[in-house]
Amino acid sequence: MECKFCAIAMTGEDAYVVHQTELSTSFLDINPIADGHTLVVPKVHSELIWDMDKKDYLALMEDVRVVAGILQETMGSKTVGIAVEGLSVPHTHVHLVPVNSINALNPSLARPATPDELAEIHRRITQGGGKGNSKS
Ligand SMILES: [Zn+2]
Repeated sequence: MECKFCAIAMTGEDAYVVHQTELSTSFLDINPIADGHTLVVPKVHSELIWDMDKKDYLALMEDVRVVAGILQETMGSKTVGIAVEGLSVPHTHVHLVPVNSINALNPSLARPATPDELAEIHRRITQGGGKGNSKS
């Protein structure tokens, strides 16, 4: 059985990758619930995060922390919401969503983004230029 998140996590192909480490790949969700909605996906296949061993779990969460910091700085939202699942795609993925209120962290707000929209957000995140634009 082919797992599409294993493929993206390993190669980064066909995705707007915003961050990559030895252990995970982070890329824009193509059905974002807000601008900058990013998925952090471990390279090791595990359907549910609670099936991961402690070492992999902690390493994933460190990558999540770093990516949330990048989103916070470039998207200028009040915070970055987090939700973890392996349901819509049966491979653990962490949703990071720049939000200003709890009501914005709502999966029913998801809508397909155009390639142009995704490319623009990708540019903003990977080249900085968000609110503050500090590259300290
Ligand atoms: Zn997988």
